[in-house]
Amino acid sequence: MKALRYVAVGQAPEVVEIPIPTPGPGQVLLKVTAGGVCHSDDYVMSLPEKDYLEQGYPLPMTLGHEGAGIVHEIGEGVDSTLKVGDAVAVYGPWGCGRCHNCSEGKENYCTNAAAEGIRPPGLGSQGSMAEYMIVDNARHLVPLGDLDPVKNVSLTDAGLTPYHAIKRSLPKLGAGTVAVVIGTGGLGHVGIQILKALSGATVIALDVSDEKLKLATHVGADHVVISDADAARKIRDLTGGLGANAVFDFVGAKPTIALAQSIAAVEADLTVVGIGGGSLEYGFGSIAYDVAVRIPYWGSRSELIEVLDLARAGKIDVEVQEYSLDDGPKAYADLAASTIRGRAVIVP
Ligand code: NAD
Ligand code: ZN
Ligand code: ZN
Repeated sequence: MKALRYVAVGQAPEVVEIPIPTPGPGQVLLKVTAGGVCHSDDYVMSLPEKDYLEQGYPLPMTLGHEGAGIVHEIGEGVDSTLKVGDAVAVYGPWGCGRCHNCSEGKENYCTNAAAEGIRPPGLGSQGSMAEYMIVDNARHLVPLGDLDPVKNVSLTDAGLTPYHAIKRSLPKLGAGTVAVVIGTGGLGHVGIQILKALSGATVIALDVSDEKLKLATHVGADHVVISDADAARKIRDLTGGLGANAVFDFVGAKPTIALAQSIAAVEADLTVVGIGGGSLEYGFGSIAYDVAVRIPYWGSRSELIEVLDLARAGKIDVEVQEYSLDDGPKAYADLAASTIRGRAVIVP
């Protein structure tokens, strides 16, 4: 089968021919219908060799932590009602399945995964950008039903991650409030739709390009602002000087975190989702009173079910740019050049 793999540190990923894997005991083999391209893949591929290896990433590694597929073969001893032919989405943050957090479906916060070497597909285990993929346990599979896998595969991360981030802030986002979304790419453009569907907040979206801001308006942002040195002043003007009740930073770079800090209102939530290398430095007087800072990671299995339900209800619609597996390297080049509208999805 064909697979899009990261084969050597510092080199672009390559399409290679490898054998179709066989599911071991407890595992499920999917025929992949779609795999989404995330900026986190780019981050992992930008790590120096020492950090890449120390953080436990293998070489070669098939990319893809957003996956959807059709159940193709079920390994020995799988205890599930799953049937060959079922259409499924892959819940990516795999955990041990036994700890307290996993028992609540919050495998993204598994307390044993690191010690036991359990890694998400495409981020340590072999991922979804191939014709077939192995899923370690049937509980990681969520029924897709009649949702189109290509349109919806990115809900497993670009939907689930903002959903989890936003859900925690909903008590602060009633009518008359303001939410700011920084970065309206893959995650951000879904985040805007989730905010509009679930909260009463006015949504202000920021990005560095007019094209991305056009997408933000298209998916429901009430105001758009270019993310530059004047952005904080514009947001203050739009909020009557009060600032935003919740800021979601889907970039996480030094200037965006500084911006988020300067526009957070009293008692706001400041949530940094992006891993752009910035950090927050604050002390008394440098941020509004009682701002709560959060650094969330991915989301829970039940939240994935909720996000898929939002899509079924027609409340979120991912903008997708399709690529074949052969064009996979181009998808990553386009992501790095910031020319993708919405999410790039590989269709094998
Ligand atoms: P993306 O490339 O699709 O989108 C990023 C957007 O940010 C682009 O539209 C870009 O133009 C914009 N941008 C860049 N610099 C900016 C600035 N200074 N101000 C405003 N906008 C700016 O990326 P993505 O796949 O949506 O991922 C977003 C971030 O979230 C990445 O850092 C990724 O690694 C991270 N991420 C984190 C989690 C988590 O669990 N915390 C999960 C998935 C992705
Ligand atoms: Zn991701
Ligand atoms: Zn666990």
